[in-house]
Amino acid sequence: LVQRMRPFGTTIFAEMSALAVRTGAVNLGQGFPDTDGPPEMLAAAEAALRAGQNQYPPGPGIPALRTAVAAHQRRFWGLEYDPDGEIAVTAGATEAVAAAILGLCEPGDEVICFEPYYDSYAASIALAGAARRPVTLRPGADGRYAFDPDALRAAFGPRTRLVLLNSPHNPTGKVFTPDELALVAELCRENDAYAVTDEVYEHLVFTDAASPHVPLATLPGMRERTLRISSAGKTFSCTGWKVGWVSGPAALVSAVLRVKQFLTFVNAAPLQPAVAVALALPDDYFTGFRDGMQARRDQLVGGLTEAGFEVLAPEGTYFVTADVGALGGRDGVEFCRALPERCGVVAVPTQVFYDDPEAGRRLVRFAFCKRPEVLTEAVSRLRRLA
Ligand code: PMP
Ligand code: GLN
Repeated sequence: LVQRMRPFGTTIFAEMSALAVRTGAVNLGQGFPDTDGPPEMLAAAEAALRAGQNQYPPGPGIPALRTAVAAHQRRFWGLEYDPDGEIAVTAGATEAVAAAILGLCEPGDEVICFEPYYDSYAASIALAGAARRPVTLRPGADGRYAFDPDALRAAFGPRTRLVLLNSPHNPTGKVFTPDELALVAELCRENDAYAVTDEVYEHLVFTDAASPHVPLATLPGMRERTLRISSAGKTFSCTGWKVGWVSGPAALVSAVLRVKQFLTFVNAAPLQPAVAVALALPDDYFTGFRDGMQARRDQLVGGLTEAGFEVLAPEGTYFVTADVGALGGRDGVEFCRALPERCGVVAVPTQVFYDDPEAGRRLVRFAFCKRPEVLTEAVSRLRRLA
């Protein structure tokens, strides 16, 4: 194995899902829903399969999907992208992030990201021979995660190539506020850096969040320097389809495609028209999806609190983090490895998403994208810990 990949073991999601299967525990670790997405989308995929849409589609994605991605961004965020040249379909957000970093970073360039960060970020940065400059999100007295603005300012330097921003943020559930985004934007402009935004949870911001979701690309001077990434996996509950997309100025999207053509070449043909159908669903699909997830958040946050966890309620995503210190836990990894045995539940330790594990030593993440009865069962098991 090459040097640059040696620090990376099996992803924590695979490890914890395997543990859940082995022990028969309720899996609140890896984030995937246990119900299917919209029936219109499933029917469209089936129809496309039967209609013979089973050969290589165009590299940037089928025109109908690129057009639907453009219309969706115009409808929800007022962003205009040309489906011909400014949008590309990818194998999930994961490939989009990897291809963006590989297409934009020279060896030695620096990528600023907020830790804890989604695990593929560090690996993609390493594959490009770039270096990551993490800025730490820490829980504040108000229960919200925040970063030190001076630390963000200090992270920028002559080798900064891009900022990789995930909001709504996995695993913390943080939604970056307009003020925080304005600072990120100001520093990108000042330092002539690009932004790559991972917005896969764009439709999962709860009604009581301090601010709505604001794409960084909507801020002054940012559209021209931002690659905006999203995916069907979360919004349409089809994480196994791996259909994502990236939008941005043609020169940046072309850099992504230059890499993408040699990673996967193209993506699953019959799933693309189906995602186009899903993106065009009426607004009440999107609000209904959010409201359903918000009810589950409330259920799990309430249950965890009763079970004795110190819970950091999320404003978005389908994850909640908790400090296990209140239950006598000293280390999230130890806690999560023992949890199936102790009470039959699987969670994910978030310290593995920090460069400095100390910053997240006692934090664990639970996914609530599960049927209410599954969450009820998980909570009754977790109460045995008290
Ligand atoms: N980014 C974040 C923040 C995620 O949480 C996930 C998946 N859960 C991804 C990217 C990967 O998305 P996809 O499955 O579309 O590759
Ligand atoms: N994004 C999902 C999560 O955070 C899992 C994705 C994966 O397993 N790679 O749980």
